[in-house]
Amino acid sequence: MIIGGGPGGNTAASVGATLGAELTLVEREIVGGVAHLLDCIPSKAMIATGGALTALGRARQMGLDVNGRLDVPALRERVASIEEHLRQAVSGLLESQGVRMLSGSGRFTGSHEVTVETESGTEIVEGDAFVVATGSRPRIPDWAPVDHDRVLTTRDAYPPKEIPEHLIVIGSGVTGVEFTHMFRSLGSQVTLLVSRQHVLPIKDAEVASELEDEFDARGVRLLKGARANAVTRDASTVTVACEDGRVVQGSHAVLAIGSIPNSEELGLDLAGVKVDERGYLPVNRHCLTNVDHIYAAGDVSGKLPLSSVAAMQGRKIAEHVMGMQLRSHRHLDYDKAASAIFTEPEIADVGLAEADAFAEGRKVRVTKVPFAVSAKALIEGDPRGFVKVVSDPATGVVLGGSIVGRNAAELISVLAVAVTNGLRTEDIVDSLLVHPALAEAVVEAST
Ligand SMILES: Cc1cc2nc3c(=O)[nH]c(=O)nc-3n(C[C@H](O)[C@H](O)[C@H](O)COP(=O)(O)OP(=O)(O)OC[C@H]3O[C@@H](n4cnc5c(N)ncnc54)[C@H](O)[C@@H]3O)c2cc1C
Repeated sequence: MIIGGGPGGNTAASVGATLGAELTLVEREIVGGVAHLLDCIPSKAMIATGGALTALGRARQMGLDVNGRLDVPALRERVASIEEHLRQAVSGLLESQGVRMLSGSGRFTGSHEVTVETESGTEIVEGDAFVVATGSRPRIPDWAPVDHDRVLTTRDAYPPKEIPEHLIVIGSGVTGVEFTHMFRSLGSQVTLLVSRQHVLPIKDAEVASELEDEFDARGVRLLKGARANAVTRDASTVTVACEDGRVVQGSHAVLAIGSIPNSEELGLDLAGVKVDERGYLPVNRHCLTNVDHIYAAGDVSGKLPLSSVAAMQGRKIAEHVMGMQLRSHRHLDYDKAASAIFTEPEIADVGLAEADAFAEGRKVRVTKVPFAVSAKALIEGDPRGFVKVVSDPATGVVLGGSIVGRNAAELISVLAVAVTNGLRTEDIVDSLLVHPALAEAVVEAST
């Protein structure tokens, strides 16, 4: 029995069905997942449109005479149609696999029993194993009176009713910088409030500074050390005040300060499932909670809040429920998850970061190659960024890497496969790749 149809829940269902489990999945809003289909995907779709506008600028450098004008209704339609296409793809797959799907809200009413409220009434579903994959929602602090009109959460931003004239982005983690990039490329004036001294506090400092330079060059106003503590609005202006007395005004503000788990109304106490002080369900390496037949996947498990991680947890849960861990089974290693930030240039990393290696006093070999020496980057008219590979100096095993530049989110896959499988730099160097290709820079950086 699976509660929640996002990447965590629907992957557990799909893999479980392949392995022969009898399954019921309950989803209260949208099969495919609220955070996934109404946050992750639309934000990337809008970033792709912004990217196309930027590419028009590059096209002029390449000798083309083009003009681009943003068509907001067409953009809304495009975002909605991608969401709908993916929703249908997930529902269709689960139906074809024989997963029983209930539309409604599920909560535990016993340790082996979930009660589902549907439009047509109440149904009790009993099961041997349960997966809680209920996701998370944007965190809204007391000082931010979100009205979903001008004071926004990330989820209010797409499809956009209008492109904000001046957007104040509160928070400079991954979501904050993606929103800054997205709305700047769609034509908004953007002020980014950075509570510390740099954007992306948990990323490689060199990567963060490359992005800050890019934001500066594109006219984004960065306010550093600016921790917001009050938001007010009148008919047309939003005012954000910071702890140090600075005040910023814009037409809209968006909160990008993290999320909280959807775990309150699940009857977890009736099932004996423990939550931590922030409401997450702690899990072991099999994604089991403290109750030995109740698993948690995705954002609600408090691990890396990524669709890719949620889906992998769902897969591992299905394998564990069906006894696959007794055969060849690789445990999920969160330290080896690749992740990307869809700014311009893109930023992606995997495994051990250079700064963390030095902080731990660990000896590593770090090699770096700029895209400026890549033929393909020059041909594409975008030689920004670099590839950095972190390896073990004794064995050559690839421990991690970061890529800043065009298609970084795709290129990091090469390093992710190497990190997950313990490949050595020479395994990458010995691979015969396409020329010209951006991936050649990954090979160069592994040399
Ligand atoms: C702005 C933004 C951009 C992002 N971009 C990326 C990205 O580029 N790449 C990436 O990997 N990740 C990205 N993420 C993160 C990603 O969206 C989430 O980590 C992922 O969707 C989590 O999957 P999930 O299954 O835990 O949750 P969800 O996708 O939210 O699915 C949980 C589902 O459970 C349902 N549910 C909740 N309670 C109940 C109940 N009681 N009964 C029935 N159903 C219930 C909800 O309706 C929801 O559909 C982004 C997130 C945000 C906010």
